[in-house]
Amino acid sequence: MPTTNAYTYTRVLMGSPIFLKLFVDNPPLVEEVYARIGELEDQLTVNRAHSEVMDINHAAGKHPVSVSPALFQLIKRATEVSLLAGSCFNLTIGPLVKRWKIGFQGHTVPPQEAIDALLPLTDPHQLVLDASNHSVFLPHAGMEIDLGAIAKGYIADVIKNLLYQRGVYHAIINLGGNVQTLGRPQNGPNQQWAVGLQKPFGDNGELIGIIHVVNKSVVTSGIYERYFVADDKLYHHILHPRTGYPLDNELFSVTIISDASIDGDIYTTLLYGMGVEKGREYLQAYPHIEAIFVTRDNKVIFSSDKQFTFTLLDNSYQLAG
Ligand code: AMP
Ligand code: MG
Repeated sequence: MPTTNAYTYTRVLMGSPIFLKLFVDNPPLVEEVYARIGELEDQLTVNRAHSEVMDINHAAGKHPVSVSPALFQLIKRATEVSLLAGSCFNLTIGPLVKRWKIGFQGHTVPPQEAIDALLPLTDPHQLVLDASNHSVFLPHAGMEIDLGAIAKGYIADVIKNLLYQRGVYHAIINLGGNVQTLGRPQNGPNQQWAVGLQKPFGDNGELIGIIHVVNKSVVTSGIYERYFVADDKLYHHILHPRTGYPLDNELFSVTIISDASIDGDIYTTLLYGMGVEKGREYLQAYPHIEAIFVTRDNKVIFSSDKQFTFTLLDNSYQLAG
């Protein structure tokens, strides 16, 4: 089997290391990839005073803001998922995310009154979208869109398309745990990509096992990614839209294997909220999307496994049907 040289790069953007592996030596393309990620971060971030999304947030309670067609589509998709019956995905969760500051300096457990006061500002039904001029309107002052649960998946797909346009069909990009793969790797023994499944609260790089895929996205949402501990209680970064507190269930993490990374990013958050039983049931209608649930009692549960193979490395975890 012919083996090609691999070219690997890591740069920190969006607060995470962004890893890229290609099998062609093309420095201008590498620059183009990272520059594009930087542009998308500038457009989507809510962790700075200015971005296209922050323009919408700053105009809350005042006026609609027309945004680029791509951002409008992204917000439309996130809104649709937020409005699904019983959905725990909510793109207008911003005020609560900002109040908790989980994963940032100054994190606190807000008093119940503060949460009660913010919950009405996180109703996605209130969002007004107008396709005729791509405008987005948050009708009450204090409302905020947060695309943190969807942005990396979206960016991973944009980069995949960019690489295709430049004639690159074999590559992997890892945006802080949000992995998109193109084709097969051009080196290595088995011509499949090996994506690690993190051990919850383990050391960085400590794995439960390895997910082998070809031409798939692999996205994980885990409570160990961003959290803090106060009074012996763990508070993690995925909030329940109806209580305003971190979602409390049997899961450590959800991983989604899919074609589009945006689906992976949406479904990890959505299915984390559903838990194992409902999540598996839900996915029966979406055979092209597969999930790996890791539970707090150390079980690794697959919704199905047609699009990947899994190698268990840590025997304190059990594969469960
Ligand atoms: P992810 O890393 O995809 O699991 O997304 C987590 C991020 O999404 C958080 O850091 C928040 O910015 C945001 N977020 C938290 N809770 C929710 C929620 N219930 N729905 C949508 N986004 C959320
Ligand atoms: Mg997500």
